Amino acid sequence: MKFKSTRGGETGVTFCEAVAKGLAEDGGLFLPDSLPDIKPHLDNFKKLSYSELCAEFFSFFATDIPKSKLIEHANNAYSNFDHKEIAPLKKMGKELYILELFHGPTLAFKDFALQFLGNLYEEQISRTNAPITVLGATSGDTGAAAIHGLIGKKAVNIFILYPNGRVSPLQEFQMTRTEAPNVYPIAISGSFDDAQNILKDIFNDLDFKKQVGLSAINSINLARILAQCVYYLYSWLKLSEKEQQNVNFIVPSGNFGNVLSGWLIHKMGLPVKSFHIAANQNDILDRFYKTGNYSPGIVEPSLAPSMDIQIASNFERLLYYMEKENPEAVSDIMETIKGGGDYTASDLKAYNFTSSKTNDTEINETIKSFYKDHDYILDPHTACGIKGIKPNSTNILLSTAHPAKFPDTIKEAIKKHPKSDTLEVLRNKKETKYEMAADANKVKAFILEHL
Ligand SMILES: *Cc1c(COP(=O)(O)O)cnc(C)c1O
Repeated sequence: MKFKSTRGGETGVTFCEAVAKGLAEDGGLFLPDSLPDIKPHLDNFKKLSYSELCAEFFSFFATDIPKSKLIEHANNAYSNFDHKEIAPLKKMGKELYILELFHGPTLAFKDFALQFLGNLYEEQISRTNAPITVLGATSGDTGAAAIHGLIGKKAVNIFILYPNGRVSPLQEFQMTRTEAPNVYPIAISGSFDDAQNILKDIFNDLDFKKQVGLSAINSINLARILAQCVYYLYSWLKLSEKEQQNVNFIVPSGNFGNVLSGWLIHKMGLPVKSFHIAANQNDILDRFYKTGNYSPGIVEPSLAPSMDIQIASNFERLLYYMEKENPEAVSDIMETIKGGGDYTASDLKAYNFTSSKTNDTEINETIKSFYKDHDYILDPHTACGIKGIKPNSTNILLSTAHPAKFPDTIKEAIKKHPKSDTLEVLRNKKETKYEMAADANKVKAFILEHL
């Protein structure tokens, strides 16, 4: 299988190359040349464990990696999860299942992709013999998940910039208490935007980039999108035949990565009736699906911070299919949006999406009432999904984070603190944190000094 850019500037790329590059050279995103038909395989998939299913699924795409290696990578990736089912499906009343995606080391669904990606990086290094320096900027979740995907990996060093004092204490614990020699959490004095600007500066210095073998961790890597397809498939396979006919996946959404994975596997043949995109008060996606009009606004901080976005970077992949796989059309539209313009899609119903938005007051009330009715604590992101429950459907709500990651919001709603063993363990570990001015040259000097 080969891969191509949504903007047409790169074609014939192998899976390993697409993973190593992340973003295509023309600024587009990678997609497979064609999507496999998984329908004939569904019966066989039923018997597989989560890791086996992951390896089987990747074998359609990663045709340049032997199957035995894929199995090894999947086993490694999911051995750090604290639940034997990896992605357990919990029944909550008659029409609702919660798919718990928070059993990985950083308690959010991003572990599914980043644990696997860490192993693919190692594979890459074993092929090229060139060490990799990963550099990223984070407002919390992604940085923590990326770090935990790369802990102890040979010939990989990871440097993560974050705004000092502006990530939650638990997110900071997850970045600074790994006790891993290849992990460098850098707390800069400044905002998340300052951290991102430093990142841009450094990636634009092509000599430096080459000298240290710089690689980005970002939400647009194709391997992340594919790794996320697996839990849609896995949860669907757990349902009765009757339930399988009627599935509505509800996905708390930000950058559109998670729900895109679901839609892609549906396009590969998984029978799904609908997808519900649940937004917080940052409602670009909700507005898009209601009006067909995609126009980025201004980000407002919310109680569900990992969904605080106004530009959904993975949207370009859906756009590619909506525009009948025409890269010129995609390039033109992305150019327009970048220049402050908007985009209106013509044929949205055909894509089986619905959407809703939930503000902070409603998040608080939902956590409270769901706890009362089901004795189950929803995290603030998952709480945004409750509006997506459809009657006469098998609703599967993707729970994207563990409530213990957001203790203040939960305390406010139900007057008690959620507990997590994973987080308790971190409390007793040694902290390593590098504080620095928001200055790209200082960060570069630091990286050179520590390689
Ligand atoms: C990243 C994140 C999201 C948003 O996922 P996207 O793939 O960006 O749509 C939702 N919830 C949590 C807890 C997250 O960390």
